[in-house]
Formats: sequence, structure tokens, C-alpha cells
Amino acid sequence: ARSDGLEGQVSGARVIAQALKTQDVNYMFGIVGIPVTEIALAAQEVGIRYIGMRNEQAACYAASAVGYLTGRPGVCLVVSGPGLIHGLGGMANANMNCWPLIVIGGSSERSQETMGAFQEFPQVEACRLYSKFSARPSSIEAIPSIIEKAVRSSIYGRPGACYVDIPADFVNLQVNVNSIKYVECCMPPPISMAETSAVRMAASVIRNAKQPLVIIGKGAAYARAEESIRKLVEQCKLPFLPTPMGKGVIRDNHPNCVAAARSRALQFADVIVLLGARLNWILHFGLPPRYQPDVKFIQADICAEELGNNVRPAVTLLGDINAVTKQLLEQFDKTPWQYPPESEWWKVLREKMKSNEALSKESPWFKMEGSSLSSLVQEYRRIPHPSWELASKKSLPMNYYTVFYHVQEQLPRDCFVVSEGANTMDIGRTVLQNYLPRHRLDAGTFGTMGVGLGFAIAAAIVAKDRNPGKRVICVEGDSAFGFSGMEVETICRYNLPIVLLVVNNNGIYQGFDTDSWKEMLKFGDATTVAPPMSLLPHSHYEHVMTAFGGKGYFVQTPEELQKSLRQSLADTTNPSLINIMIEPQATRKAQDFHWLTQSNL
Ligand code: ADP
Ligand code: MG
Repeated sequence: ARSDGLEGQVSGARVIAQALKTQDVNYMFGIVGIPVTEIALAAQEVGIRYIGMRNEQAACYAASAVGYLTGRPGVCLVVSGPGLIHGLGGMANANMNCWPLIVIGGSSERSQETMGAFQEFPQVEACRLYSKFSARPSSIEAIPSIIEKAVRSSIYGRPGACYVDIPADFVNLQVNVNSIKYVECCMPPPISMAETSAVRMAASVIRNAKQPLVIIGKGAAYARAEESIRKLVEQCKLPFLPTPMGKGVIRDNHPNCVAAARSRALQFADVIVLLGARLNWILHFGLPPRYQPDVKFIQADICAEELGNNVRPAVTLLGDINAVTKQLLEQFDKTPWQYPPESEWWKVLREKMKSNEALSKESPWFKMEGSSLSSLVQEYRRIPHPSWELASKKSLPMNYYTVFYHVQEQLPRDCFVVSEGANTMDIGRTVLQNYLPRHRLDAGTFGTMGVGLGFAIAAAIVAKDRNPGKRVICVEGDSAFGFSGMEVETICRYNLPIVLLVVNNNGIYQGFDTDSWKEMLKFGDATTVAPPMSLLPHSHYEHVMTAFGGKGYFVQTPEELQKSLRQSLADTTNPSLINIMIEPQATRKAQDFHWLTQSNL
């Protein structure tokens, strides 16, 4: 019996927590405050993990990554007004990425609505632009069904973000336990399949392709279609290309992966099978000059409205990627077919990859004194040739390639790679390999900077529960790190053994060395003379980690990098941050986009 006379009563906070748990929601990220603290407490009471973050944006990024990694949405819990508004960035990012997410926002008391209440804001309306579903339950009794609907909407059809608004007066209101009916856990998303005639037509278009290509997107990763897609690619001997987060659906070092000839593959393919990837900026809209004007797209997606965006597809396969890929496989089982490995197209792609990789005894790697990299050379043959030269440069400060080669050499194969930054992310992606699906998290469709630490925290928390011992490596540019840098405290508080690498060039895109910076300041105040891209040179970001008890390293040479990374990876209990100084003016190697300079194309 309770001493508070509330026998048989239950609080709104408890109803919310119980309703979430009933929907198999297991992770909540957020920042407590009026009026949501009790919701976080209640969540822990019902067995939901609660991870307190330092900014709602990062909390929202983390919750959305849980959705992508597990297929079950995470919750982001925010306070009213500014708290919710800070979370909108994370909601937008999740929705753009098509990742499931539940945001629960406290809001001002209903009785004070429109009176200028504390942190009053039209939250349900504000969330509409950033979500698939945004609603406020009309009573405590209505909470379970609204939460069921939010969870269901977040994972059915095209996944996305959903918002549930909780007025302050709901949180502590006590109602009779018997008045609450918890809605059963929603069914798993129904699996939709493509029309049989469309599948047949797709198979026939593939069979008649002269220069076929499969593109694998993060929709395929989310759909857990790795097994069927690998079968399709191997059985039909098709070349494939992953998008940034499609990396790992089939391992990067698979013989059919033509990532090292990406531009060539896109430009000359005559049939492209698009599996869970949109024809947006990441894929150059599917348009010339990056593609043939008459390329036939076979577009597979769960979202009907996506089909036909930017191009007129030859065949549309509306359905779940895994189911649709299996349907295609059935066709090729019935009438076996494979794309001839000796075709001209394979030759062109292989040649291009070879010239890009160009690994011979002449490779600068073999000439490096005391290099331990020959094993690396044998392992990872997917790296553009000019980068080998850059990577082997012994001059200091280091360049991006040198850094990433040394990192790749030590990365555990099954680790999560989280990455953001401009050059750091773009160059890192070409060197850092993925061997498993859903193991790369980056700035994504929305190109969001600041996601890294939240994603890394989510991956580490999920790994702790599901794959203890699995490591999370978070590769950040120095600018990108700054957006959510205080989440290092969160990492240390929960003792997550994340390895944070800050690739530090003293700026956004580019920066200045200490001497140039000092020289510049002779001409005036930094606000008038410092280029807007510059950040304080020689910043000791590793101290952010040591401030909270983690390990910090400041490295300037390949040897220091190797050693600190080895130590960080060997330490399975503490987080670490390696601040890697690179050439402030280092950029990427030149790309041969010849159509940009040739007017006849
Ligand atoms: P990428 O960034 O890798 O190119 P996008 O995010 O642009 O990928 O595209 C992912 C696509 O996958 C979206 O259009 C989304 O509707 C789709 N998608 C998500 N889940 C599934 C699924 N289970 N089956 C089919 N398509 C899916
Ligand atoms: Mg930078």
C-alpha cells in the first residue's frame, strides 16, 4: 500500500513510459527540466535506458541513430519551447534520412495556452515540417494510442520522425489505473512486394543490359536486405556501387564493388538497379553529364512518391527492398542468367579500378623505410592511386591520406565508423573500409554537421547491449567536432569506450598555422582580418576529453598517431580523443571531372 494515498493511481509520466515500453521502445535520450523530468524517471522505472545528453540536437541525433541501427525508434525527450526547438535539427535530420524517431516534448499547461506561458510555443505545428506525424493526446487516457500511432508511423512505409506533445499538466496528473488501456505493441511493418509484371520486366531489362550497375543505398541497409542483395550481385555477377551509408551492405572489398571506378561506372552504365537510394544530390540527380542521357533506371523503393523523381524510370518496383530483391532473385532462379565476366564493361571497370589502385612494387608504400604497410596493401586494394603518393608523404604536418591510411591499418573490421566534416568525411570515406551493414554513420542526406558524437554515443549504447566489445570510431573534422563537443562529458559519464579522432586543420575546409595566424593579427582585430574559415590554430581538443577523465592524445607524426591509436583501441574501458594535427592547407587530390572542362560533353 502506498503512503501517499495514491493507491490505484498512476501519473501521466508513468503512462507515457509504460506506453513506450509496451511499443518495444528501449532507449531514450534527452535533457530533463520542467516539465519532463518525471517522464525520464518513469522511463527508467519501466526499464527504458535513459541517456542524458548536453544539447537536445545531439540527443535527437542519437535517438535517430538508434532507430536506424535497430529498426525500432529511439526517443528524444525535450523540454518545452527552446528545448523542442533545439531538437528540431535532429528531427529534420532523421526525417531527411528516412530514419524512425520519436520526439516527446513537454509543453506549457493547457490552462495557460495563448497567455504567454513559460516557454509557450506552437509545438505541434512547429514539428509538422520535420515529421510524418505530430500530435497532442487529448487526455491521459489517449496517450497509449497516440504513442502506438507515433511508433507505428515512424516505422511503417517510409520511416521517419514523429512528434508527441505532452502538456505540463499531464505529467503529474494522477488518474485511476483502470482508466488506462495500453494498446498492444504495433505489428512489425507489413512487407510490401512489387507487382509481378514489373519484376518480370525488371529482370528482362537487366538481362538485356550491356553495361549494368547496381547502386545500394542506406534504404537497403535499413531494410536489412544484405543477404538477398549479396546473392543477387554474386549470382548475376553484377558490378555494384554503395552510397556513403550503403557502404557495408556488401563489404567494401568485395570483388564486384566498383567504388574505385565510381565516376566511370555512373557515367557509362546503361541499366542501373537502384536499391534504396534516392536520385538526389548524392547521386547527382541521375542526370547527364554524370549519367548517360538514356540510362534505364530500375528504381526500387518503399515510397511510391519517390519513384520517378528527377528521371523517368524504365521500371518501378514499389516495395520493401529485401522482398523486391528476393522477387528478382526468383526470376533469375527460374531462368538462370549471369552477366558475362569477360564483357567489355567489366574490362573497362577493372582497368579503371586498376589504374586508380595501381599497386605494384613501385608503389611508394614499398619504398617507405620500416613500413608495416605491405599487409595493408594486400588487404585494401580499393584506394585511388594518387592518394597512395599523398599518403606516403613523409613531410610534416601530415595530410589527410597519411592519417587515414594509418587509421585504416588498425581499425577492427567489425567496428562502427562514424564520420563528419568536409574533407575529413569525404576523404575518409574513400580510405576507411566497411565490412558490415549499418556500420557507417555520417552527415547523410541533409549534410548535417554536429551529428558525430550523438551517433557515436547511440552506436556505443546499442553495441553495449547487443555486441559487447564492438568498438565505435568517430572521425571528426575539428570544425565538426565543435558543434557537439560537450557530449564528450556524456561519453565519459556513461563510460563509453569510443575512440574520437579529431582531424585538426585549424579551420573549416582550411585553416592557418600558428605563425600565419599571429602574422595576420598584426594587421587588425581577428573579426576584421581573420578569414571566416579559420579556427584557433593548435587547439588542444584532447583536453576536452581529459577534463572528464578520458584519455587525450596530441599527435603530430604518423608514429605518434599509430601509437596513440593502438593504445586507444587496446583500452576497452575508457574513451579517448586523439587530436591529429594536419597541414592546415591540405585538401583533396585533384579529381578528373573532365566534363567540367570539355564543352563538347
Ligand atoms: P542514400 O543516402 O544511401 O542514397 P537515401 O536516403 O537517399 O539513400 O534513400 C533511401 C531510400 O530508401 C528512401 O527513398 C526510402 O524511401 C527507401 N527505403 C527505406 N526503407 C526501405 C525499405 N524497407 N524498402 C525499400 N526502400 C526503403
Ligand atoms: Mg577542419
